[in-house]
Amino acid sequence: MLSYQHAYHAGNMADLHKHSLLAVALDYMTRKDKPMSYLETHAGRGLYRLDGDEARKTGEAQMGILRAETEDWLHRDHPLGKAISAIRATHGPAAYPGSPLIAAHFLRPQDRAHLAELHPAEHAALAETAGFATVHRQDGFQMALAICPPSPRRGMLLIDPSYEVKADYAAVPRQIGQIARKWNIGVIALWYPLLTDSRHTGMLTELTQTYPHALRSEVRFPPARAGHSMVGSGMWVLNAPYGLADEA
Ligand code: SAM
Repeated sequence: MLSYQHAYHAGNMADLHKHSLLAVALDYMTRKDKPMSYLETHAGRGLYRLDGDEARKTGEAQMGILRAETEDWLHRDHPLGKAISAIRATHGPAAYPGSPLIAAHFLRPQDRAHLAELHPAEHAALAETAGFATVHRQDGFQMALAICPPSPRRGMLLIDPSYEVKADYAAVPRQIGQIARKWNIGVIALWYPLLTDSRHTGMLTELTQTYPHALRSEVRFPPARAGHSMVGSGMWVLNAPYGLADEA
């Protein structure tokens, strides 16, 4: 099932949380000269327009990045703010970067990136936007399992599923376990929604039992619409880079 389209949600509160931590992690990891790998299992199209029909229909960016900018939530030197400014300098003031373009802002010529996106139209848009990376039209977990441990071995994997079916929550800990066994030094970050029906909690309990030292950052916010079940955003990070817990 591939009915989820991130264009309706780009720049919302969950993106702000996820993308802030992603930018802080990559900013830190790319300060060392050593090359790194960046992998994403669910990449999306890479570039969004906050003045597009989809974004205007939900208004979610108004409650997320646009409010953050109006109210100066991000400090002046925040890595996410810098990445957004750089993207807008190239793509115009209504542009908003997805995670692949945030990564592209930090990655250097010596780094390698692999991005998976299964939806045909999202994949086509991503392939056009993400010239810095190898773009796979493949299940993201299959891609990660095939590539890990990546070369260079130092690196980060972002797992950002659309959780369209309930079974996704049960599958994630098993898939992370397989990847972490092959790549024990990888920074593995998982985004998840905080839901009113607590569908996400079993997954988190299992991850916390297996990896008690992993970072868990959660923010709560009002639902985007009355009755909407997402009331917060979570990031779980295995082998979190130095300083990420403080920034979180
Ligand atoms: N990571 C992106 C960002 O932050 O900008 C957003 C990604 S969006 C939440 C999830 C994406 O995963 C959608 O574009 C969807 O088409 C894609 N997708 C769904 N199932 C997938 C799968 N099994 N493998 C790869 N991509 C998948």
